[in-house]
Amino acid sequence: MCGIVGYIGQKKAAGLLIEGLKRLEYRGYDSAGLCVCGEGTLHVQKSPGRVAAIEEMAGADASLQAGTVGIAHTRWATHGAPNQVNAHPHCDDGGRIALVHNGIIDNYATLKQFLLGKGHTFTSETDTEVLVNLIGEFYEDGCQTLEEAVQRALREVNGTYGIAVVSADEPDKLVAARKGSPLIIGVGDDEYVVASDAAAILEHTANVIYLNDNEMVVVGRDGMRTMTIDNVPVTKEVQQIEWSLEEIAKGGYPHFMLKEIMEQGEVARQSLRGRLDLRDKRVLLGGLREVARHLVRTRKLIVSACGTAWHAGLVGEFLFEDLAHIPTEVEYASEFRYRNPIIEERTVFVAISQSGETADTLAALREAEEKGATALGIVNVVGSTIARETDAGVYLHAGPEIGVASTKAFTGQVIAETLIALMLGRRRFMSQPAMTGYLEALSEIPDKIERILEQSDDIRQIAEAHCERENWLFLGRGYNYPIALEGALKLKEISYIHAEGLPAAEMKHGPIALINDGMPVVFVAPRCGTYDKITGNIEEIRARKGKVIVVATEGDEEIRRYSDHVIYVPDCPVPLSPLLTVVPLQLMAYHAAVARGCNVDKPRNLAKSVTVE
Ligand code: GLU
Repeated sequence: MCGIVGYIGQKKAAGLLIEGLKRLEYRGYDSAGLCVCGEGTLHVQKSPGRVAAIEEMAGADASLQAGTVGIAHTRWATHGAPNQVNAHPHCDDGGRIALVHNGIIDNYATLKQFLLGKGHTFTSETDTEVLVNLIGEFYEDGCQTLEEAVQRALREVNGTYGIAVVSADEPDKLVAARKGSPLIIGVGDDEYVVASDAAAILEHTANVIYLNDNEMVVVGRDGMRTMTIDNVPVTKEVQQIEWSLEEIAKGGYPHFMLKEIMEQGEVARQSLRGRLDLRDKRVLLGGLREVARHLVRTRKLIVSACGTAWHAGLVGEFLFEDLAHIPTEVEYASEFRYRNPIIEERTVFVAISQSGETADTLAALREAEEKGATALGIVNVVGSTIARETDAGVYLHAGPEIGVASTKAFTGQVIAETLIALMLGRRRFMSQPAMTGYLEALSEIPDKIERILEQSDDIRQIAEAHCERENWLFLGRGYNYPIALEGALKLKEISYIHAEGLPAAEMKHGPIALINDGMPVVFVAPRCGTYDKITGNIEEIRARKGKVIVVATEGDEEIRRYSDHVIYVPDCPVPLSPLLTVVPLQLMAYHAAVARGCNVDKPRNLAKSVTVE
């Protein structure tokens, strides 16, 4: 959520910082700002709204043009309204130090009292302004350098932060630190770019250093030093970012979301590559090799995630119980840590997160690890915090996901779960022929996804026919009940249509009261064990004049008799069906949102990766 960019080098900082902010726009934010170090002065511009606004202001401000050191921010307000005063960078009351911050300072009120007692004054409502004044206080009170003041301040802070700090008194220096919010340092020729996201760095260099929690970096014109906030030096390895800038761009589609939906066949291929061994009939997951023996003896799996990843977790519950015979519980990460969860021996905790930075999921993971669980991560972003803090894991290899509504990451997450379930199932009880059947069927999934994508135009017509309706229902059973939930979530998050997803049979226990003439009801009903039951539910909707849209298996002509619209998906074993049935629902949500004129890639109030609680 929100973003940080910092620059120090030979080039003019302002334009470069703004380009960086634009690359971070997809993360979701409500205001933006930048600070460039001039001759002994800090020049700051900030504004609510889009980066374009700050770009215009910066262009018109001559004082910003010369400097070659600066910091910039896109904010997602937690403390105080999203207005100009609360936007970052924040300066200390002496105007000598500027800071950008992602995260939350939990004990800001206590620190503010302390600072008020020392005579400091505040202009914003933010927790961030408290932190910069605390640094300022220590800078004045005996600290010799900016980094020393930052260290001293951070030792007083409870909460989460990714920060970048500059000072008018040490204009050739940039200090950055992290705890709980991502921070990466791009190491170029004679220049450094500090950012919360690789997207803002790639243009300059692919060589990066990932800071860990409680670490900081001091970057100067002549090099950099890394250390803990307790000033213990740490040696960091320079790593290569795998993603290209081109991958990040839209690839010819009008929206990132459509591009990401459309590339799901390829994503599935990528995430299966090297992992499906059809010759020896096995699954190879390099990231689990070291813990595989231990995993086979798992007594219970706890899968924890938020939003779309939680729906992937629900599919995982079916996969792990059905294919691997391991009792599985799926937990909202945000709830998990506020209970007193019981972690018994041989419990394995699985954290699912596209970004690998989701604050609630990370906190749940830490709670589970604290209580002795072995932890696995299913994440997309290589080197992200969850990836680093888990014992082992599986990367999605889905490439960057920019659209706020997650699509291809969901597919990647379900593929990863399927691979884990098959690997464990085979080692526990599954017969060779059964395994062979699943592996062959899995290898056909990418092509089948692509066949569904070809129906995008037909799905658009269905979406357009019903997109004026403000209430939709999504129903499914078994493996496809989580897909009904996901279909509803997709629709509401980008088209602002109210939608509910339910297990189909639950409808009778209340929600059926909602059905009225013309209300769209989407059934996810591929051929499976509960097919007959679901056709019964379809009849109940029709009797109440709802509009029935069905996702059905190719060849199921019978279903046409019951439905207003049918979208066909290719046949496959039921445990793999969610990988297919979700695709038409993503397209439905996309086309409905476009037809309603919504901002598909940046839906209102939402952010891409939720790195605050
Ligand atoms: N807590 C800070 C604020 O409200 C930072 C929020 C963010 O991460 O953008 O300004």
